[in-house]
Amino acid sequence: MPSLLDKTIAALLPAVPKPLVRKFSSPYIAGEEFEDAARISAELRVDGIRSTMDILGEHVSVREQALTYTEAYLELIQSQDRLGLDRNVSIKLSMLGLTLDKDFCLENMNRIMACASSQGTKIRIDMEDSSCTDDTLWIYRTLRAEHNDIGVVLQAYLHRSMDDVKDLADLNPDYRLCKGIYIESPKVAIQDPVKINENFLKILEAMWDSGSYVGVATHDEKLIEKVKDLIRARGLGPERYEFQMLLGVQARLRDSLVAEGHPLRIYIPFGRDWYAYSLRRLKENPAVAGHVLRSMFRG
Ligand SMILES: Cc1cc2nc3c(=O)[nH]c(=O)nc-3n(C[C@H](O)[C@H](O)[C@H](O)COP(=O)(O)OP(=O)(O)OC[C@H]3O[C@@H](n4cnc5c(N)ncnc54)[C@H](O)[C@@H]3O)c2cc1C
Repeated sequence: MPSLLDKTIAALLPAVPKPLVRKFSSPYIAGEEFEDAARISAELRVDGIRSTMDILGEHVSVREQALTYTEAYLELIQSQDRLGLDRNVSIKLSMLGLTLDKDFCLENMNRIMACASSQGTKIRIDMEDSSCTDDTLWIYRTLRAEHNDIGVVLQAYLHRSMDDVKDLADLNPDYRLCKGIYIESPKVAIQDPVKINENFLKILEAMWDSGSYVGVATHDEKLIEKVKDLIRARGLGPERYEFQMLLGVQARLRDSLVAEGHPLRIYIPFGRDWYAYSLRRLKENPAVAGHVLRSMFRG
């Protein structure tokens, strides 16, 4: 559970001047432009590391914004292909209008999927807060009727996730499994970190039992050790899993996984709408958030 200090820091962060947030979040964000993300993706590839790119932004309030993000994703898919980079993109559906009108969001995703399929690009739908889960899974299921090159994320902290694995089993999804980053009530989500980890492993096994490929997205070293035990015990090869980490987090752990021969993908966020993402990353890491506040008070 977060300490009182952590909670205080998290509450104070929105008052921190934007330039300071930008400075401390810079390791987690490639930059504002596609070229910044492209450079990092190319560098990672030299080290045998895969990548997925994400355009920063979420929860649009008008349709025009959603259409602008749709165009930006179409351009991203074409640019990855043109430069011969990893053809892999992660998308938050609230940027494409999910919370305005789910049919409109589906139309935007259909355009993106048509372009992705023609380029051989893999699309992964990120999972947002629990108010979006049903509609996100509905869009995933609808798109799967025509496209195979699309994956989805489940969050180990949600009570419902094990049922979602059962409901989705007929689709043999390509999953990402993460703990879940949004603040959720105890009604909806497990709060105890130990229990979240237990559920993570149970869900992971259920995903593998149903034949799915899983992107295991965590930087938790102890959890990763347990996942490695499962991979060994099940004799799984790289066709069944990869590890996934966020840009700028736990580079040492990332390098040791690669040295051991595990497939690994880095999530590279970029774009002009970096502020909300940065606040989430900083809230998650009170050590860094503490530096931000200290710098602020020192001027
Ligand atoms: C590739 C990827 C994609 C993701 N996609 C989603 C998604 O679609 N939906 C969603 O809800 N969540 C997503 N997440 C976030 C995830 O749910 C967790 O909130 C986040 O990864 C932290 O949990 P953890 O498993 O790393 O474990 P934790 O126990 O939180 O962290 C383990 C250790 O990692 C380090 N660490 C973790 N985060 C940071 C950080 N930001 N800065 C510095 N150090 C850090 C710390 O040392 C910490 O002790 C994603 C995460 C990854 C890696």
